[in-house]
Amino acid sequence: MRKNIVAGNWKMNKTLQEGLALATELNEVLAGAELKCDVVIGTPFIHLASVAATIDTKVIGVAAQNCANKESGAYTGEISAAMVKSTGANYVILGHSERRAYYGETAELLKTKTELALANGLTPIFCIGEVLEERESGVFFDVVKGQIVDSLFDLSAEDFGKIVLAYEPVWAIGTGKTASAAQAQEIHAFIRATIAAKYGESVAQETSILYGGSCNASNAQELFSNPDVDGGLIGGAALKVADFKAIIDAF
Ligand code: PEP
Repeated sequence: MRKNIVAGNWKMNKTLQEGLALATELNEVLAGAELKCDVVIGTPFIHLASVAATIDTKVIGVAAQNCANKESGAYTGEISAAMVKSTGANYVILGHSERRAYYGETAELLKTKTELALANGLTPIFCIGEVLEERESGVFFDVVKGQIVDSLFDLSAEDFGKIVLAYEPVWAIGTGKTASAAQAQEIHAFIRATIAAKYGESVAQETSILYGGSCNASNAQELFSNPDVDGGLIGGAALKVADFKAIIDAF
């Protein structure tokens, strides 16, 4: 059975002290709770080790929001997948639309990052999704398929099976506009069929596909009740424990 996952993406928010307070509060709220999904928090790099040492990582997984496309060496300012892993983090968010748009991350670069993440024992949460123009012109199926094929379809079936996908329509991220439950289900089913055509039905059925884009306590339940929506990647609503917990409780 594939996993249901609610993953928070803190983006560039929270000082170390604020982040530790948020993680500690979440840890307390989730301790002993009966969870119907896995929970992950994606913190800034500098928070990872302290957060991982503070919380119960069996209850809350820890994710970086990026990693380098090089193993090690003279790449000033970069953080390698091995370094991320050494903090106690187990996940890395890759291909977020903000990284693609503001930092020029290409399909080829993301392919390398994904391979390095997997080689270092990290689970990539790999983001895909179209911009508004692509949604409105109807090319979004091709765009999303291209993002998957170009960065992930050279992986072996075994390695692909370790990936979590996050479908995040760019027009819904941080905008307060959400894909409708029907729009989410339509594209998630398409993504699963795309995986099945390449790797077979059992790999496709085992792949968790999260929805991201203004997901909140009010819409999470409807989105997550779709058969092909296996949870959420949550930005703004991950910054307050009550909001994030309400999304976790949507399962
Ligand atoms: C995100 O950045 O991954 C995201 C989904 O953000 P928000 O929930 O704020 O739209």
